[in-house]
Amino acid sequence: MSKKKIIVIGGGLGGLSTGIYAQMNGYETTIYEKNPVPGGLAACWKRKDYLIDGGIHFLTGYKPGLSLYNVFKEVGAHKAEYVDIEIYARYIDEKSERVVDISSDLGLFQSDLLSLFPEDKKKIRHFIKAIRGLSKTDISEFGFKEPMELMNTIDWIKEFWQNRKALKYFVGKSMQPVKDYVKNIHDPMFKELLLYMFLPSVPIAFLWMILSFVSQKQMGVLKRGSLDFAKKLEERFLALGGKILYNSKVSSILVEENKAVGIRTEDGEEHNSDFVISANDGRTVIYEMLEGAYTNDKIDRRYKEWKTVVPFVCLSFGVDMEFKDEVWMTFFKTTDPIQVGDIEKEHVIIRFFNYSPYFAPDGKTVIQVDLETNWEYWFTLRKDKQKYDRAKKDLAERTIEWLEKRYPGIKDKIEVVDVATPYTFWRYTLNEKGSYMGFLPSSDTFTSNIEKRLPGLEGFYMAGQWSMTTGGVQSVIYSGKHVIQLLCNDESKEFIMQAN
Ligand SMILES: Cc1cc2nc3c(=O)[nH]c(=O)nc-3n(C[C@H](O)[C@H](O)[C@H](O)COP(=O)(O)OP(=O)(O)OC[C@H]3O[C@@H](n4cnc5c(N)ncnc54)[C@H](O)[C@@H]3O)c2cc1C
Repeated sequence: MSKKKIIVIGGGLGGLSTGIYAQMNGYETTIYEKNPVPGGLAACWKRKDYLIDGGIHFLTGYKPGLSLYNVFKEVGAHKAEYVDIEIYARYIDEKSERVVDISSDLGLFQSDLLSLFPEDKKKIRHFIKAIRGLSKTDISEFGFKEPMELMNTIDWIKEFWQNRKALKYFVGKSMQPVKDYVKNIHDPMFKELLLYMFLPSVPIAFLWMILSFVSQKQMGVLKRGSLDFAKKLEERFLALGGKILYNSKVSSILVEENKAVGIRTEDGEEHNSDFVISANDGRTVIYEMLEGAYTNDKIDRRYKEWKTVVPFVCLSFGVDMEFKDEVWMTFFKTTDPIQVGDIEKEHVIIRFFNYSPYFAPDGKTVIQVDLETNWEYWFTLRKDKQKYDRAKKDLAERTIEWLEKRYPGIKDKIEVVDVATPYTFWRYTLNEKGSYMGFLPSSDTFTSNIEKRLPGLEGFYMAGQWSMTTGGVQSVIYSGKHVIQLLCNDESKEFIMQAN
């Protein structure tokens, strides 16, 4: 019997994961990707002798000890190379000249916090206690084992029972957003430290979870960059017999009698399949490729009301200097804000790619400055290419001046300058408003679910970051697994997984 055909739109991590699980389950899968390489947001590019990584900051699940590792093995991600993070980040408050390293050693981290913020003793103890508690558990697969659509009451009871030791950290006030949790903190620097450790909108439990992974030595960075990571998934997909077509942009989804039957590519060609799975921008899929014919109030409200992750300008510099004493990521609350478009930014994030030889030649380093910004500014500006290029150049110059004050001599050692704006992220991946992680994660989104099927449309599923309440690598890899679990269930077939 010939195999049923699946077409996947998008060869980012979500699309590749979908393809991998589809192949494992006996489907004939073709991924259509508009770019010439896989990975989508997990992107790297060369500038002279430097490798610029414009994607994934940090990852968990890449080594034994967490159940997430099994999924990494299934999709081949365990074959990428990683460097463990000892310090999640350094936080520098320039006004008070105080510095904190967010260390994997919780004893050290706690004593640093206590000596810097004695007035907040109670809060610090509460914060560290929760991280300690969570680090004794394995919550890496909590809520991810199966798509919610397939979980019944007994499955939920089992899920809660298996994660019972962690549950108390995810109920009640633990789900309040960081911006509320910090309200009664006395020291403004401690407040800021928690607010910008990830995003102010996420539940405080999310920070505890991240830091528990750090303390378990289960958090790392990619030694060869994000594209290499994506290529490990591509390798796995191809080895399972999947097919990926690059430079193939999908323009619409073909529907007959409320069933998805294939796609049309930009060149006008039509390609038929038994199932279509989108793993690209959600709004484009629902309201353009399917012309808004398969939606409901809940979906419309989500696309109207939910915010997308605030995009940033990513300025990368190839520098003929070493930064051996720097940690891989430093947050500055600066006294000398950088003007980015129409906003003055007092929060500056710097990544030092000093943990691997693959980003720069010997003795040299890539450093990257991330500045949050607004989408509209860059989108509007891009209508006038000259003005847009000028704004990028000016911002790079201002940033170099800012760096020079903190790292004297750097200005004359810069060999490469690369500026990626939210417009760049959009142009490359077509994600709404240049969002690098889908919807903005918040206490509300964390407790909701996004269905992977659309009302009234058969043969169609959604994967990738817009099909999950929060994006990110772990999430999108699971999204691929979930759609194939659903599809197998819809076809009354057993779902099969194979580690490699
Ligand atoms: C700078 C940065 C840092 C990040 N840091 C982290 C981190 O530290 N930890 C973490 O977990 N996550 C991080 N993320 C987020 C994570 O990388 C993303 O959530 C994830 O890679 C999204 O994968 P995806 O497949 O859903 O989407 P995408 O990567 O956007 O993939 C969609 C693909 O579809 C293609 N496509 C779009 N439209 C079409 C079309 N019409 N036809 C054909 N192809 C199309 C695109 O080219 C793209 O390749 C970061 C992202 C960025 C950019």
